[in-house]
Amino acid sequence: MDPFDSTERASLPRNMIENSMFEEEPDIVDLAKDTTTSPTFPALDPDEVVYEPRSSRLLVRGLGENDMDEDEEDCESSARLLGMSFMNRSSAHRSGSSPYTRRDPPRSCSRPSTRSTVVCVLLLVIVASLTMVLYFLPGCNFTKAGCQKPNNTLEPVYPWATNVHELFPWAEFRLPQSIHPLSYDLTLNPDLESMTFTGRTVINMSVRHNTKRIVLHSANLNITKATFKLGDRKTSVVTVLEYKPRQQIAVKFSEELKEGQYCVLTLDYSANLSNTYGGFYKSSYTDKDGNKRVLAATQFEPLAARKAFPCFDEPAFKATFLIKISRKSNYMTLSNMPKATSTPLTNGLIQDEFEKTSVNMSTYLVAFIIADFTPISKNVSDTLVSVYSVPEKKEYTDYALDTASKLLEFYSDFFDIDYPLKKLDLVAIPDFLAGAMENWGLMTFRETSLLVGNKSSSLEKQVVASIIAHELAHQWFGNMVTMRWWNDLWLNEGFATYMQYTSVQRVLPQLDIGNSFLAMRFRALDKDALNSSHAVSTEVNTPEQVEEMFDSVSYEKGASLLLMLNASLPWNQQFKKGILQYLKQFNGSNTDTEDLWNSLTQVDVSTLPQNVSEMMSSWTSQKGFPLVTVSRKGDQVTLTQEHFLLTSDNATHTSRLWNVPVTYVNDSCSLAPECRQMFTLKTKSGTFKLPQTVKWLKLNYRNTGFYIVHYGSEGWDSLIEALSNNVSVLTHEDRASLIHNIFALSRLGRVSFHQVLNLLNYLLNETETSPVKEALLQLSSIYRLLDKRQEQYLVARMKNYILLHFHSLMGNQTWEEEESISKQELRSALLEMACSLNEESCTQKAKAMFTQYVQSNGTIRIPGDLQRVVFTVAAQSDEDWSTLLSMYRYSTYDAEKRKMLQGLASTQNARHVVWILHAALKGDIIQTQELPLVISTVCNGFAGYLFAWDFIQENWDRLIEKFPLGSFALQAVIKSSTSQFSTQAHLDQVQGFFSSLKERGSQMRSVREALETIRLNQRWMDNNLPTLRKRL
Ligand SMILES: [Zn+2]
Repeated sequence: MDPFDSTERASLPRNMIENSMFEEEPDIVDLAKDTTTSPTFPALDPDEVVYEPRSSRLLVRGLGENDMDEDEEDCESSARLLGMSFMNRSSAHRSGSSPYTRRDPPRSCSRPSTRSTVVCVLLLVIVASLTMVLYFLPGCNFTKAGCQKPNNTLEPVYPWATNVHELFPWAEFRLPQSIHPLSYDLTLNPDLESMTFTGRTVINMSVRHNTKRIVLHSANLNITKATFKLGDRKTSVVTVLEYKPRQQIAVKFSEELKEGQYCVLTLDYSANLSNTYGGFYKSSYTDKDGNKRVLAATQFEPLAARKAFPCFDEPAFKATFLIKISRKSNYMTLSNMPKATSTPLTNGLIQDEFEKTSVNMSTYLVAFIIADFTPISKNVSDTLVSVYSVPEKKEYTDYALDTASKLLEFYSDFFDIDYPLKKLDLVAIPDFLAGAMENWGLMTFRETSLLVGNKSSSLEKQVVASIIAHELAHQWFGNMVTMRWWNDLWLNEGFATYMQYTSVQRVLPQLDIGNSFLAMRFRALDKDALNSSHAVSTEVNTPEQVEEMFDSVSYEKGASLLLMLNASLPWNQQFKKGILQYLKQFNGSNTDTEDLWNSLTQVDVSTLPQNVSEMMSSWTSQKGFPLVTVSRKGDQVTLTQEHFLLTSDNATHTSRLWNVPVTYVNDSCSLAPECRQMFTLKTKSGTFKLPQTVKWLKLNYRNTGFYIVHYGSEGWDSLIEALSNNVSVLTHEDRASLIHNIFALSRLGRVSFHQVLNLLNYLLNETETSPVKEALLQLSSIYRLLDKRQEQYLVARMKNYILLHFHSLMGNQTWEEEESISKQELRSALLEMACSLNEESCTQKAKAMFTQYVQSNGTIRIPGDLQRVVFTVAAQSDEDWSTLLSMYRYSTYDAEKRKMLQGLASTQNARHVVWILHAALKGDIIQTQELPLVISTVCNGFAGYLFAWDFIQENWDRLIEKFPLGSFALQAVIKSSTSQFSTQAHLDQVQGFFSSLKERGSQMRSVREALETIRLNQRWMDNNLPTLRKRL
């Protein structure tokens, strides 16, 4: 999947109480991780494996979906202090009849009487004592045949089923392993008028271990009938138990199903089409005659296949699928496979049957669509590639078809495995929250991620090409070889992100995607520098935590690590060979991170073997990255590493170490790849020799490594001096990297802002895109913070500073069509900055261009890369804002429309701000999928950011109806609405609001990130305002 706005991917899981405990007790973090891989209850059958007593204090953390009364919470937090968070939690439930069975008298905690308090305290003492006993029992495993159970509380705490008064036979978030699905037959009958559907799912399964239960997923489905057939015995009707909090259903048997047997479960059900962007959902658009047309599509990743059909909805339960869908004659259907037959039904509908999937696939990759779309198609080798859109937008599909065809050929060749299906569809869906989704054979996209016109700018084409490249890479990385569980999502997403840049660089070099790739790596570092970040491979045990894995760490850090690995392997083809071996070895199955490193280690034929596994696990198993500090004495260079961790109080130090493949160049040879030298820093510090005549060193050549470098004050001075004499002594990537690193070091408090400004002086001679863009981005974030703090004097000084340093570059930009992507990126960044600072020649030009555009009735085009700046300037006048709004309503070209929306949302008119926020939530004139973009744009302006924060607080419950907790859309909303606060009052307000949400959001990692960011802003202001006042 590709979240819609790569620059907006915010970070982020866990309950705040738990977090604060984790900070104080780092040991517990590891314990928590340990518990999550092994099931949390004593074994009853092979599914319920060994349970280590040391982990007992964190038992049942995964059961946190339940509401708690305040008293229950008090009880809970006292218990936590005693290290016994689980005991109450599993038994405390608000509903009158608790769905859990209880071994203790837990309701005593929920009554605020003296008696209950006494009972509660007594209970805690007993429970704590028992834990201590268990804790110190040496090496005892609580299996069925293991230690004698000293305590009844260690029985599995089965909940009550939510549909009938019976115990639900499973008590964990992950499904048991005893039954595996082999194939699904799905029959779906959607009714696009009533927005409902009925379905029948037939699941063929094999029994892996003797068991008396089948447990699978189902959410919001009303199961009307269920039958079961074991081997060749007779089919019988069975009762399906449901446990809604975990979206599971189960069938219990009095007799054991035996290992090696086969069985079939058939489920009939009905449901509503979803109102959100997940599951089997409804979408609509207005056709050229003004009529509303409806359609239905799916988005299952990560946890929503269960909303369309009952299934074993975990990536490791791969199976084949045979899908049948009924439709009216004026609709068409699509699914993963080509259509096999169409049969008229007695009710006047037509049933389309698709070929059975020729591959085993995970449920999250299943997809189907019922719509009235039109295609264009082309054969590429043995595959029919088609692009579908609503009929009105067919003219925008050519570029996608051509690009997908080229990339498909490239990947089939690169991976040395043919694309395995006979067709590949790319479909633009009117309502779609993510950027795109890699469903096997049926990739789905937002319209803006797939459709571009002939006249579109090459920058718009770059976006479309890179998203197609990302989803296509998944057809191998993710679809053929899939992560075993969501903790290793990065294997899918880090890889697809890495390939999206490298394949576009190879296949479409004219799209010049290198600058975007570099900027992406800088943003990944910024995010990972926070204490709220997480390891690339991280345990996930709740639906929100699964959602939260779709973040910058899985995508962007994952991709950055792969680039670093590829760049540091001594043998040029080792990376590619290792990847091919990995794909071939695991094709059709599931893997974890270690499998990838092992494949890459095995193909090593160099004389100096680099143990990939040893090197890379230091990067994927711990959060953050190293700060490498350089010091020189005579001919000796010493490198030391430490965790680059931004904290607001300088209190947290970690002893983490990485296996860092340090690269460096120096003044005698600094540009060509041959100049690059390597040094592996595995320990806290290391030294190498360098002639004393060397004037300066630049580490992390072209910023291919995932670390930040501090050169010490002399080292920085000599680099600054070298650059002020001649900017071309370093590659533009290295210059951008110095700018990025020095701002990061200033945030860390290692260099003064005075030193930052010294480096920036060289920018008077800088003309390349990536260093200029990085400097503008860093300066504008400081400018915005000052603006929001109402530091008027400094705001004016900062404005002058920026205009002074970039004045000549800004003045040199043209406003005509420009072919070079790099030049488009440069001028749009410069002009957006100039116009946002009200630089007169910029705003005049933009206004004139808008007037011309309006007068020509849209026939005179504004170059794509300049549309946002022109619309933003126009939207500052009330009259032009209204004009722009009416143009927005009737525009059909989505890329342009989105820039109009950004213009509209940049208004400084408070009434307009309030209107646009509400319109985007309502989803009528502005699609709700654009709300995160609207909020982030509104927050950039001074007028809007406080309104946006109020709006989010007031409408929180509606927001989480549309955007799941933890999802990237919600991550982006939280980040953009809070990241510009820098005062204690705002910190208190944000903290107060999110803690009041409890299970409706307080546990999200993005909340921790938000609080951390505000504290860091606060600290930066305290430390740097005096320098700014003196130096700016
Ligand atoms: Zn993806």
